[in-house]
Parts: sequence; structure tokens; C-alpha cells
Amino acid sequence: MRRAIFPGSFDPVHYGHIDIGRRASNLFDELIVAVYDKPSKKLVFSPEERMRLTREAFADVPNIVIKGYSGLTVDFCAEVGAKFIVRGLRVFSDFEYEFRMALANQHLSPTIDTVSLITRQEHTFLSSTTVREIASLNGNVSAMVPKHVALALEEKFSTQHNS
Ligand code: ADP
Repeated sequence: MRRAIFPGSFDPVHYGHIDIGRRASNLFDELIVAVYDKPSKKLVFSPEERMRLTREAFADVPNIVIKGYSGLTVDFCAEVGAKFIVRGLRVFSDFEYEFRMALANQHLSPTIDTVSLITRQEHTFLSSTTVREIASLNGNVSAMVPKHVALALEEKFSTQHNS
């Protein structure tokens, strides 16, 4: 079985991620969308919330499974028997970071390959940071995330504003 993981923070999942995940699911028998529990970024959603939102976003794709992980991505690959790491590329500035990460992972585990998929043009400027910023200012994110994610953002920021 050709199994790949698509790792990330998914804080929250948006249409850029969803497009990459769906396209990658056509390349492999099974795609594990791997939600990293403690990235070195400030998070809005807990690991459980990020997993729930991500699971709902891919609920209609039978060969996509959502799992949480901590520690090294290559160790998680070994744990689940995945030989490929899928990443998305948006702009040139992504490339340098992704290139360094792919080389570091290659160094740590030479048998695991990184497969980078180029974003669709309409998702070039889409990032979780942008989505969070717009939502925190009460802006409309309905073109960027599915309805259940927009609702979760609304709920999250209304409780933050009221506390
Ligand atoms: P990380 O913290 O690991 O970068 P993210 O959740 O921000 O996690 O992103 C996960 C993956 O999705 C990364 O490979 C990232 O480049 C990719 N990605 C994020 N936004 C987009 C987008 N708009 N189009 C394509 N890929 C994207």
C-alpha cells in the first residue's frame, strides 16, 4: 500500500489545504492528514479542535484519514508506515523553507520522500494566518474556509472578544 502523510498545523484548515489533500489522495492509496500538536506558532485552536475541523473537511474522501502527532515527522512516518510526505507550495518564499525541511527529513530518514504539490492560482495568498487575522477582525472568510470552519472561528473569536 502506498501511504503518505500530509503534515501541518491546520490552525484552521482552509481551501488551500483541502485542495492539496484531495489532489494528493488521488496519488496514494491512503493519505494521513497529520495534525501536529505543538507547532512553534501561537495557536487559536487546540489539537482536538484542529483535528475535528480537519476531519469534517475531508469526511467525503474515503482514503483520507486524520491523525494527530507530536515529535519528529519522520518518526510519525515510521510509526504509521508512510514513505511519502506531502507538502503544498504557494509562493517562492515557501520554497526555501520547504526545501530545507525536505533536506533535513531526507537526512534523518533517507527512505522517505517529500512530494510537493503546487497550489492552485486562486489559493496562492491563502494561509491560516490570513484566515485567523480576518476572522479575528470580524471579516468574511466564507471564500477561504468551509462553513463549519467559519462557524468555529466565529465562535472562538466571539468568546475571546467577550472574555
Ligand atoms: P505548517 O505549520 O507545517 O506550515 P500549515 O498548516 O501552515 O502547517 O500548512 C500545511 C501544509 O499546507 C504546508 O505544506 C503548506 O505549505 C501547505 N499550504 C498552506 N496553505 C496553502 C495554500 N494556500 N496552497 C497550497 N498549500 C498550502
